[in-house]
Amino acid sequence: MSPISAPTPSLTLDPHSFAQGPALAHLMLALAVDFANQTLAGSATWRLATPSAEFTELVLDTRDLVIEQVWANAAGTGPEAPHTLGTPDATLGQALRIALPAGTAAVRIAYRTSPQAAALQWLAPAQTAGRYPFLFTQSQAILARTWLPCPDSPGRRFSYEAGVEILGEERGQLLALMSAENPQATAADGHYHFRQLQPVPAYLLALAVGRLDFAPLSTRTGIYAEPATLPRATHEFGELDHMVQAAEQLYGNYRWGRYDLLVLPSSFPFGGMENPCLTFVTPNILAGDRSLTSLVAHELAHSWSGNLVTNATWNDFWLNEGFTVYFERRIMEQLYGRPYADMLQVLGEADLHHTLQELGPASAATRLHLAGRNPDDGLNDIAYEKGCLLLLTLEHLVGRPRLDAFITEYFARFAFQSMDTDRFASYLTQALLTPAEAAHLNLPAWLDGPGLPPGAPTATSARLAGVDAVLARLATGTPPAELHYITKEWSSQEWEHFLRGLPPTLPAEAVARLDAAFHFTASGNAELLAAWFPLALRAGYAPADAALENFLRHVGRRKLLVPLYRALLGTPGGRARAQRIYQLARPNYHSVATGTLDALLAGG
Ligand SMILES: [Zn+2]
Repeated sequence: MSPISAPTPSLTLDPHSFAQGPALAHLMLALAVDFANQTLAGSATWRLATPSAEFTELVLDTRDLVIEQVWANAAGTGPEAPHTLGTPDATLGQALRIALPAGTAAVRIAYRTSPQAAALQWLAPAQTAGRYPFLFTQSQAILARTWLPCPDSPGRRFSYEAGVEILGEERGQLLALMSAENPQATAADGHYHFRQLQPVPAYLLALAVGRLDFAPLSTRTGIYAEPATLPRATHEFGELDHMVQAAEQLYGNYRWGRYDLLVLPSSFPFGGMENPCLTFVTPNILAGDRSLTSLVAHELAHSWSGNLVTNATWNDFWLNEGFTVYFERRIMEQLYGRPYADMLQVLGEADLHHTLQELGPASAATRLHLAGRNPDDGLNDIAYEKGCLLLLTLEHLVGRPRLDAFITEYFARFAFQSMDTDRFASYLTQALLTPAEAAHLNLPAWLDGPGLPPGAPTATSARLAGVDAVLARLATGTPPAELHYITKEWSSQEWEHFLRGLPPTLPAEAVARLDAAFHFTASGNAELLAAWFPLALRAGYAPADAALENFLRHVGRRKLLVPLYRALLGTPGGRARAQRIYQLARPNYHSVATGTLDALLAGG
């Protein structure tokens, strides 16, 4: 251990939470899952870290919850504890204020969710790969409060256990899973019990219920998926245990017991969500050739950056995501070599430059200022890619051995704690950098300046340079069909770079020739389709229309949808067409996606 004193962990004020009062150590959740009424109903019992003496009130976050009864004990007996719900705020919800008699050790709240609960997506059988309904939660950033009353701030952690009962005739067919120790088989009576003994923040609470099977991949990894999806998924993620081993070699032991993946129906709004013990992933990354698994490396890396050391508030989101992107690419380098990781870095930097260009001089700094906004609207590539570039800059400055030792120590020292940007900056300058290195780095410009500081490294990739050479030959008139001998070995990343490198507007005939040679419209790779459709739309290339509409109606991943709807809006008559497709597709999207798309597609 170095002689440096660790900064004292203190609670950073969170602009997105009403939570106040005594620290809560443990949650006992008891919920019935009612598909017919699209509600969860039951109770949340919170055990205080120490019986209340200095606090006379506990304040929790809620949004759209029906609070039925509140007691200042765990048993839910005796007279109710006085409580009030505050004025509703569209984003933050309502503060639930509970009076605490002296010596209160636990608080029990009987409640139910609303069918509109923003975290919950209730899928009809037709929206799954099978014949049963499905439920999943998405709690990040501040949606946990829509399915349980909680201190919904990333700076507040607690362990939890939960009893979940599935109601209805189909209960014996449905498996329930949480971000916890999970069952591997369906219970005939529809009753499940879960434990998460490591303290986690509320945004990492997760529940999924559906017709799901399990396939083990190793003693500590495995896949849950709908039966129709499971064989493809076990093939796609066959390297999962190697990934965990690579991550551990880099930055220390995996601290969460099992690492399993849950492959969700395609309306899941994100690529993945790092729910502890059980990463949720979109089925869109089942490309058949393991070419999109860096997304899993990303979610796995969150088991350290994010889940172990957690951003104190959403303003410090880059501490979760910047570290995770850097760590993800180091895992991919470990597994597939430097040339592969270099492609990921070049593509990531291209995303960042694109975002910075779009936002112009108003581009956000790495440290965000989200007070008064929905944090979900303020999170973009900057936290991910500029955060990662800061770590790469450190790598160039001090060398990998020193940086890796620092990161390993950082994860170990601050495990199960939260971290804010100022505390990180002072720890970095104490524990890693010499005064000369600190002066050279110019940390204030990295954290609080717009754009990129001068001296930010730029990645290069020999494989993507090969793609550039192909693009140059196309530009000088080589027919696409004559380039097969080069492109036949290309990965998803090379194709992505290729599609992005084409002129943004091409005549329909040129797009048709590309499609005839490379079969983009018929691709099963969601990332490639998402890069291809805008080109087809701008060219007015009608043969891609049906595939585009099919994509928009079946994929729920916001990151892919938003650019496609934007491209559609940019075509002649595009608004009416986009609105027509959106109307059909919207029931398949999670609130996280409709929150963004409703605004984009409003008006006429
Ligand atoms: Zn992430």
